[in-house]
Amino acid sequence: MGGRLRITVLGATGSIGLSTLDVIARHPDRYEVFALTAHSRVDELRVLCLRHRPAYAVITDEQAARSLQQQLDAAGMPTRVLVGVGGLLEVAAHPDTDAVMAAIVGAAGLPATLAAVKAGKRVLLANKEALVMSGALFMQAHRDSGAVLLPIDSEHNAIFQCLPTNFASGLGSVGVRRILLTASGGPFRQTPAAQLTDVTPEQACAHPNWSMGRKISVDSATMMNKGLEMIEACWLFGARPEQVEIVVHPQSVIHSMVDYDDGSVLAQLGNPDMRTPIAHALAWPARLESGVQPLDLLSIGSLEFEAPDETRFPCLRLAREVARTGGTAPATLNAANEVAVDAFLARRIGFTAIAALIEDVLAASEARTIASLEDVMMADRHARALADGWLAKRAN
Ligand code: NAD
Ligand code: MG
Repeated sequence: MGGRLRITVLGATGSIGLSTLDVIARHPDRYEVFALTAHSRVDELRVLCLRHRPAYAVITDEQAARSLQQQLDAAGMPTRVLVGVGGLLEVAAHPDTDAVMAAIVGAAGLPATLAAVKAGKRVLLANKEALVMSGALFMQAHRDSGAVLLPIDSEHNAIFQCLPTNFASGLGSVGVRRILLTASGGPFRQTPAAQLTDVTPEQACAHPNWSMGRKISVDSATMMNKGLEMIEACWLFGARPEQVEIVVHPQSVIHSMVDYDDGSVLAQLGNPDMRTPIAHALAWPARLESGVQPLDLLSIGSLEFEAPDETRFPCLRLAREVARTGGTAPATLNAANEVAVDAFLARRIGFTAIAALIEDVLAASEARTIASLEDVMMADRHARALADGWLAKRAN
């Protein structure tokens, strides 16, 4: 492939989207922005379009798209504005884009992420929910198309870096015993169980090490994020749930580890800054300057490790259970979690009700096998309806 790599950024206005554009802008000789997408922040999308001059922009709302098109035309920009899921699918699979950063949050990102995989793009996967929901379907599409799939989640990017390149032949065959998935423990790592009922969305979103979008920040606080990541690791690396051990490491300096049969443990370290995994995935197998400061181990001093507490953080247990059940169960867990997190952020339920809601929705759902994307979307819709019912009952 000659020339610059043409990149589509799905979820450009988000935390990962902006970090991606920061890395891209450092290397105008190597990358150009092909398309940028956003949900509702039309003014921010306009500013990004003026700065990066993409061929396409996509926004969810039709009226917002019309006004954005007028403003970009008036500014003499070459950008064509598309609308909604149709627009996302078009830019994700467009013949003129080489790589797709999948950084929409939640189930909303699944159709476009899967479209990019099916179209054989180089896919930079931040949208873990898409893989958790559609697991086998997603990985089959990846094998069929030969798309290069590079994990952006810092833990999975670390594991990818610590594995040999032929890991797809099976972890056992490359001498891997276990994956050690590190977790910061989130803002409530040391909060007693009795106090967790009263924590606020502001406290939940104040992550000690990472600056992220609100949904993943709450997921980190409940440790559902680590549960989703455990499932993500199983699919990406062909691991069984019991081969993925969660280790709480409050400094977030080691981003994860791989434990080999001979006793060697390989780790990837770095400052907690998502531009490192983003630059790694953009340039792979080469390396790229990312803007991240060099790691200063002397000022960090010590690295600590502790076991996760599944009593205070029941979402970890729920995620392990659905990983074992398989089929549509992870999609149900994911959908119930999205509804519960939204309700918590809107102050409709307390923090500990998040896990309670998910557990009840799982108990009321039957896991089915997945044959198509429609099966996944049906499980997603069904779980959301059950979760809405749960909230309505609570309100009365
Ligand atoms: P964010 O909330 O900051 O950004 C989300 C982006 O998705 C925004 O651009 C928004 O416009 C878009 N979006 C939201 N709803 C949409 C919809 N219905 N249709 C179309 N677009 C929609 O989120 P983030 O923190 O950047 O996270 C993005 C993804 O990356 C998540 O799946 C998250 O789990 C994953 N991730 C994030 C981090 C991080 O450090 N932020 C780390 C690892 C993984
Ligand atoms: Mg992560």
